[in-house]
Amino acid sequence: MYDLIIIGAGPAGMTAGVFAARKGLKAAIISKDFGGQANWTSDIENYMGFTEIDGEALMNRFEAQVKEHRLDRIQTDVQGVRIDSASFSVKTVDQGEYMARTVIVTTGKRPRTLNVPGENEYRNKGVSYCSTCDGPLFRSVPVAVVGGGNSALKAVFDLEHYASEIHLISLTELTADAVFQERLRSISKVKQYIKHTVTEIKGTKLVEGIVVEKVETKEQFELPVQGVFVEIGLEPNTEFLEGLVEKAANGEIKIDCECQTNIPGLFAAGDATTVPEKQIIIAAGEGAKAAIKAWEQLLQ
Ligand SMILES: Cc1cc2nc3c(=O)[nH]c(=O)nc-3n(C[C@H](O)[C@H](O)[C@H](O)COP(=O)(O)OP(=O)(O)OC[C@H]3O[C@@H](n4cnc5c(N)ncnc54)[C@H](O)[C@@H]3O)c2cc1C
Repeated sequence: MYDLIIIGAGPAGMTAGVFAARKGLKAAIISKDFGGQANWTSDIENYMGFTEIDGEALMNRFEAQVKEHRLDRIQTDVQGVRIDSASFSVKTVDQGEYMARTVIVTTGKRPRTLNVPGENEYRNKGVSYCSTCDGPLFRSVPVAVVGGGNSALKAVFDLEHYASEIHLISLTELTADAVFQERLRSISKVKQYIKHTVTEIKGTKLVEGIVVEKVETKEQFELPVQGVFVEIGLEPNTEFLEGLVEKAANGEIKIDCECQTNIPGLFAAGDATTVPEKQIIIAAGEGAKAAIKAWEQLLQ
């Protein structure tokens, strides 16, 4: 029986792990991977202590710090959490079952999909959700980026080094930070389609084009692209808690300012929760807070 199981190992989970270990808790981190979303971005300029750092490099530093502590690290996918009298049972896809007196959920978010014909068929055959990972595969070919927020513009900046042309398709006016929008204006290979949407992804074996629709008039036209980068937001990885914990309409876990959910002993932190603003520094801070609160509860 663990004192604490942390589910997820992004910035929130890894920070919670370090704080729990330093409090002397018998703890485990169970996660699909180590690093989470921050692994998908090349340039982080707002994590204090680093003027600029590659996301994966920052997460490697987090993981190295976790490894300094006595903490079980179990790499697998959690399928469900059950309450068993005064403890929790955490079930994993590989039939594992781990018991703990407290749990912190830090399962973060995953990319939202377009849900248009061709998206599933051409996933990893031209359709991508990670420009940092897949950008180099699209050298000297035209690509589309779908979205208008910070993630979409960051994808454009990644792809600028590889693609021959970048078609930026946004359902609304751009919502990205002003500093990103200013940088966008200086990139001549970008063509913007504001208040447009993608209705179909076409191809034979690989992506060959997309159908774009102007929102106001419903007028449609095709763009010949070989890559489609979908950057239209994220949704929380919280389905495995269905029926157990109280969530907001968008699936985020409801927490109070002590990272406590509606179930005593079940805490949550980071992007998977209703905490305002989703950033590495915030997720890390919330992870630290959740671990301290779990420790306080275990003392009672
Ligand atoms: C492209 C991009 C660029 C970004 N750039 C910045 C930036 O410049 N600065 C900044 O501050 N923030 C940035 N962010 C946001 C930042 O990455 C997140 O706010 C932060 O990673 C959230 O941390 P987290 O630990 O809550 O969740 P995540 O990082 O999402 O980590 C969740 C962890 O849970 C695991 N997991 C999920 N489901 C399960 C399950 N069922 N079982 C087991 N494990 C599971 C995942 O594998 C992962 O390890 C960016 C995000 C993206 C997508």
